[in-house]
Amino acid sequence: MQWLFLLLPIAAASGWLLAWRGGSRRRTEGSCCSGDPVFFRGLNYLLNEQPDKAIDVFLKLAEVDGETAETHLALGALFQRRGEVDRAIRIHQNLVARENLSNAQRGYALYELGRDYMLAGLFDRAESLFLELVEQGLQDRRALRSLIEIYQAEKDWRRCLETADQLRRRSDRPMQTEIAHYHCELADEYLRHARRDEARAHLLDAQAVDPNCIRATMIQAQMEMDGGDPNSALMLYRHLARRGPDYLPAMLPALLHCCERLNRQGVAKELGDLFAAHPSPPLMLELSRAIEREHGPKAALDFLNDYLGTHADLVGTERLLELRLSRFPEQAAEGDAQLLEVISHLVAARPSYRCDQCGFEARALHWQCPSCKHWGSIKAVAAQLLTPPGGLAQSLTAGVGG
Ligand SMILES: [Zn+2]
Repeated sequence: MQWLFLLLPIAAASGWLLAWRGGSRRRTEGSCCSGDPVFFRGLNYLLNEQPDKAIDVFLKLAEVDGETAETHLALGALFQRRGEVDRAIRIHQNLVARENLSNAQRGYALYELGRDYMLAGLFDRAESLFLELVEQGLQDRRALRSLIEIYQAEKDWRRCLETADQLRRRSDRPMQTEIAHYHCELADEYLRHARRDEARAHLLDAQAVDPNCIRATMIQAQMEMDGGDPNSALMLYRHLARRGPDYLPAMLPALLHCCERLNRQGVAKELGDLFAAHPSPPLMLELSRAIEREHGPKAALDFLNDYLGTHADLVGTERLLELRLSRFPEQAAEGDAQLLEVISHLVAARPSYRCDQCGFEARALHWQCPSCKHWGSIKAVAAQLLTPPGGLAQSLTAGVGG
């Protein structure tokens, strides 16, 4: 496989060469550079992995031929893609310093220089370049998107809101999901400083922009709980649970807390109603515990037997084996302890959440995917339904609970 890597710089250089030739064809047929030995010396340096010498040659070439902006942009993009940010910055800085660029070329070069600065972690410099581009109307939508990336990284949610609003007005791209999350971030910030009125105003804004914003309702429910109104909180949690299992694991501890505050003996009933509508492993786990507390271990075992009859779920199997070994050791089959150990290991290694945009897997809920930066794309991993007759479940639950 090593030979493939040897071809990479050649492939990159050929792309660059094509871009260069395309550029030179657009200028004039047989222009001064197409047979320029200086150009081929630069190309030779590039192919021999001597990029700094190549850059020196190409920068000088630009001084000879004032219309080689495309060449520079292709070379800058090549270094940027390879993560050689210092070299990309040299190329782009040299380009924007030139006076004979068209407006479009200047906009493009400034934008790429801004991206170089971002990659180098120089957010201040990148920000001022992008703001300049927006003001001049050059590459403005791309610049606005980059500004949002910067403000998100800096957790400057107010500026995220302002910039998203500008972008929304300049493009057809719907921004309601992002805008609702920025409002939620601001609500969280206010709550950390015990400023409930401001927080509530941002939650209302979030729901006005995106009526499906689950996060805003979750924060609101927590506010009701903290404000001493568990009845209102429970209404909101029920509403959220009806929306499906995607965020259920994240809100389950708060929902349990809420149920317990209202009625310690009615938790199994409350969870049972939710479970009937949307069966999912985290809810199954809490429901089986509540049944055990309120109705005894035998009832919990019966419940798990039924559940595993229709769900191919490791978490349910782990819970059933735990219960069998601890409360009904006389019914435990030979090898149950080893089986439990293996299953616990598999469950611990499994992700609880997955991004539906990029597949990023996580153990905890992130409202913004750490990998692809989408908002609201990370959701709980769903349990699989077994197809009847469920042979696996039958063999696991054989002789138990019956
Ligand atoms: Zn993602």
